[in-house]
Parts: sequence; C-alpha cells; structure tokens
Amino acid sequence: MQSTHPTFVRKERIGDGTYEVYSCNDPEVAKSFLAATKVDQKNYYVIVETTDGNWGTDIMGLFLEQLRPWQTNINLTQCEGIVAPYSIFGLQMAARDVNDNFLAKIMCGKCEHNRIDGIRYKSITAVKCPNCQTYNSVDSKNIIVASKEFEEINAKKFELGNQANIAKDFERAFQLFRECYDNRYKAAECAGALGVQHNHLHRLID
Ligand SMILES: [Zn+2]
Repeated sequence: MQSTHPTFVRKERIGDGTYEVYSCNDPEVAKSFLAATKVDQKNYYVIVETTDGNWGTDIMGLFLEQLRPWQTNINLTQCEGIVAPYSIFGLQMAARDVNDNFLAKIMCGKCEHNRIDGIRYKSITAVKCPNCQTYNSVDSKNIIVASKEFEEINAKKFELGNQANIAKDFERAFQLFRECYDNRYKAAECAGALGVQHNHLHRLID
C-alpha cells in the first residue's frame, strides 16, 4: 500500500465545532498521524478523509466517523478475527447509539496482523485486514456496557488501575483492570493495559 503523509485540506467551523480536515490515501497512515496528534480542547476535531473511511481525533482520542457501507455485509467475510476493546469512551458512545461504531483492537484470523478498526456494538461486523486484504468477521457481543453507573465505576477503576500501573504496583493494577473487563478478554487486555507480556502477567498473579 502506498504511504503518503496526510495533506491539509481546510479548516472550518460548524456550529460549536472546529474541524481541521486532511486527506490521505492510506488509512493506516491516517491513524498513525491522528494517534500522534493531541487535541486538548473540547469541540475541536482533526479529521482525515481516506478512501477507506473518515478517521478523526478529538479530546477523547481516535475515532472512525462512520462505518463503511460494506461493513454490514457479512457475506464478504472469509475468516473470523479476534477482537478486544480499545477505548472505554468509544464503547460507551456506541452503546448509547451516539456513534454507529466503536474502535477495537482486531487480530486477523488469517495472518494475525493487529490493528485498530471500527466495529458495531453487540453485533457482527465485516473488517478488512490491511496486511493480507482478507475480510474478517468480528463478533462484539461479549464486549458489553451494562449501565451508566457500572460504566462510571469501571472508568474509575480503570483510572485507579493506571495510577497503580504508573506506581509499578502491578498486582493492584491487574486486580483493578481485571474487574473492568469481560472474562473472555481479561488476561490479554490487562496485559495490554499494564504494558507487559501475557506470560509475564501469569507470573505476576500466580
Ligand atoms: Zn490478515
């Protein structure tokens, strides 16, 4: 795939929002660019229009503006990808129907390439692997936001977990992260949040 740096297109105000718009051929380059762009004010959006969806970032981080139309066509898929949550905020917005997707970490069922993509909440979505071009189906029904109260408790635990992680109290951090995640993704997610290898995590908790 051709890699090009995003090109600035325009800056505009729509209602309360300020939009800085770029265009780019390669969605993976767009995502890297946006991940490195920090937005520190509300209602400020940096958008990169690509041939594979419009990606953006705001004060809450990376997002996909809208699912691509083909993503609901499960007949395209040839294998099953593995999915884990990426940001609790995005998941909450999808659970409340504010967005039609949330970002998840996806591992290709064919070539095991990892990347971030937008998928539907509590549903099956088609995603395309940028490495081997295979369409994967991903099932998000085990990634659930239960209630507002539950979400707030989880967000608080996640924050405390991060503080414990920074203080290198890995056992405490693991315990807090563990309570935030669904069983199926627990170990890998906690390892990700702790920034440690999966095997090392088992040594920590054994
Ligand atoms: Zn692949």
